[in-house]
Amino acid sequence: MYTIKFICEVLKVTAFKSNDLSSKISELVYDSRKVNNPEESLFFALKATRDGHDFIPDAYEKGIRSFVISNSIPFLNDKTDVNVILISDVLEFMQTLVTYHRKQFNIPIIGITGSNGKSIVKAWIYQLLVPEKKVYQSPKSYNSQLGVALSLWNLGPQYDMAIIEAGISEPGEMEKLQQMIQPTIGIFTNIGVAHSQNFESKQEKLIEKIKLFKSVDALITGSDYLEKEMVNPEVRIVSWGKSDHDQVQLISEDRSGHTSKLKVRIGEVICICQVPFTDRASIENIMSCIGTMYYLGYDAETVVERIQGLKPLEMRLQLKKGINHSSIIDDSYSNDLASLKISLEFLNQQNQHSKKTLILSEMEGLAESEKLQQKLVSLLNSSQLQRFIWVGTDYDWLNNIDIETKTSFENTESLLSHFTELDFHNESILVKGARKFLFERVVQRLALRSHGTVLEINLNAISNNLMLYRSLIPKGVKLMAMVKAFSYGSGSFEVANLLQFSKVDYLTVAFADEGVELRNAGITLPIMVLSPDRDTFQTLLQHNLEPEIYSMSFLDEFIDFLKENDIQGFNIHLKLDTGMHRLGFFPAEIKTVIEKLKNQDQVHVQSFFTHLVASGDPNQDDFTLQQIKSYRSAAQELEEGLGYTFIKHVANTSAIVRWPEAHMDMVRLGIGLYGVDMDRNFSNLEQVSSLKTTVTQIKELPSGETVGYDRKGVLSKDSKIATVKIGYADGYSRRFGNSVGKMQINGQLVSTVGNICMDMCMLDITGQDVQVGDEVIVFPSLMESAQAIGTIPYELLVNISSRVKRVYYYE
Ligand SMILES: *Cc1c(COP(=O)(O)O)cnc(C)c1O
Repeated sequence: MYTIKFICEVLKVTAFKSNDLSSKISELVYDSRKVNNPEESLFFALKATRDGHDFIPDAYEKGIRSFVISNSIPFLNDKTDVNVILISDVLEFMQTLVTYHRKQFNIPIIGITGSNGKSIVKAWIYQLLVPEKKVYQSPKSYNSQLGVALSLWNLGPQYDMAIIEAGISEPGEMEKLQQMIQPTIGIFTNIGVAHSQNFESKQEKLIEKIKLFKSVDALITGSDYLEKEMVNPEVRIVSWGKSDHDQVQLISEDRSGHTSKLKVRIGEVICICQVPFTDRASIENIMSCIGTMYYLGYDAETVVERIQGLKPLEMRLQLKKGINHSSIIDDSYSNDLASLKISLEFLNQQNQHSKKTLILSEMEGLAESEKLQQKLVSLLNSSQLQRFIWVGTDYDWLNNIDIETKTSFENTESLLSHFTELDFHNESILVKGARKFLFERVVQRLALRSHGTVLEINLNAISNNLMLYRSLIPKGVKLMAMVKAFSYGSGSFEVANLLQFSKVDYLTVAFADEGVELRNAGITLPIMVLSPDRDTFQTLLQHNLEPEIYSMSFLDEFIDFLKENDIQGFNIHLKLDTGMHRLGFFPAEIKTVIEKLKNQDQVHVQSFFTHLVASGDPNQDDFTLQQIKSYRSAAQELEEGLGYTFIKHVANTSAIVRWPEAHMDMVRLGIGLYGVDMDRNFSNLEQVSSLKTTVTQIKELPSGETVGYDRKGVLSKDSKIATVKIGYADGYSRRFGNSVGKMQINGQLVSTVGNICMDMCMLDITGQDVQVGDEVIVFPSLMESAQAIGTIPYELLVNISSRVKRVYYYE
């Protein structure tokens, strides 16, 4: 552990302010929401989409006293109990510190990069080597400039090997990652099309990527991906591929059902390896793993035995509905301190139940490392857990864990046999276990099953999309997130929890009931209700939901209601109609509104807004401009009339992008948050939801037969037909019938045959290699699917029936 004094010496800087330079630092913190050991934390004020300097007061509040900053700020200048390092580039400082830390360990470090497969190869190599090696792997997909630094910081003396993932999105980045990681072994998984927008060509991207391997001893790569001349001649290349020049050769592959039999030559030995994968990507990833084991000196027999034990990995942390109203966070494929920290943060963010439980297995190196034990204890004690269930050896240090209820089991079997007594209900349960503890069995007992069709929701993508739109609005402009209609179909409190954690300023629902559901789930952000009605006044009051007020009579009634209940100063949001002609006051009515408002103290105008009808359509720009103008003058009139100011807002998603002058005091982000780019120019937007089902049955039918109701699906040739369990009751419109709808199976597009039924429909898979159980992606492109039936993505999303289970994940 380093002290501030030591860090200053090593990095050759003088502290700008010093209180106690002997403070020990064990944690690098860059997000004031993620603090678990403030006394030993060093806060880095990074400048990303948001300026880390703005969060220093919050970090201080949480107990952090040591800071690295690039602007001196008055808040710190006034404090006497802080250590401050002032330098020009905060991220670079962190990276230099980590580079120093890395150099303290003289162990093999595998640096892994490539367009796809990095995380899975990393996790597999970990599994393959774990029987005799203590391997550290970078957590999740922490592979960026910041992610790699944080990953390397966790290196400690308990490991005898490390695997670190490196990812780049722009030229110039790999050199910095190489300097930090200084890998001794390289793995290049493959080169694909991902992240190409910032590179001139595939070649340029390739050259950038292989900078990671500048000074490795050996590089494991597919021979098709690289030309030897591109790599430093001193590097030993261990290639895999189909040629007999490759050290590891894939001689043939025989695919049947869900397994492949691979005939491979490993060095001089030819062997057969049976694996539970058939897709190209998995086979390539397996070849990378075999190449690595071969280089590390494992004999062919061991390689085959271990490769055959590989299982498909759920790399993502998943949030599922559990038994007895519990929620399950399933992160059962790996276990180390860094990834435990991420999962605990997620548990905190998804603040679904006040009772929080952790089921944790023993982790690598814990028994021998007292320092690791201390870190674990301090992490757990600061994690607001009510219950801790330990699976592993009974250690003394377990006594230091200060959690209300503690239970411990020797192994997973014993935990499962005491399941009923543990009485799980109304709690959030994080299940976190090392691979060999097979905690998927625990998850099976806890999670409710989803049948066939699920809507997968990528919470990271929501978070990234939010950041992207935030980067478009100036600092100080508030952000209101639209969570109406079940968050555009993506779920209610799961999404709201994420948004609350991400500190958006407002949430908006359509009806009071939706707001009540959020309040019951513990959402405390202010909530605006777009279409309140008279029957729900009491509900608004009770749950502190702020109504949109759109007409004179409605304003009168609400004021009367508040009078009867003796309430003053209740927040309302006045809606102006500037052209939508849906709800709202006309500009000419503002005068009367002012008079009414001046004569009462029941309501307070919290905001005043209008809705743009065509902010995304360049052909309507004159009209949009007209709307903005008309809004501005009404807002001025209202402000002068009331004698106080309020939040002014007009911009929806498209206007955030296309109309900077409409950002005003707040923007209302809707569809863009959910990953749909209505403006078609936002290439970095991430897809949020994916509707998936599976093939239930396959039939071979002769030409002339018909498929489905009313004999609409006439087969003009011998055909293979797959039945999938999704129908119009799930939100798959009948308009998709008879070849209009396209779904995707194993990367191929297939069309519907015949009419869509209520709970099922049929697909023409003639000529395709499809098995019962294969995954089917229902909307390969939301935009194209919507256009096929003459609608917009909004409608497809919100129509996905609530009976379709939502599964949330976090990468
Ligand atoms: C739905 C809605 C929005 C969000 O619109 P998007 O196009 O989804 O961004 C904004 N304001 C109001 C009043 C809305 O009803």
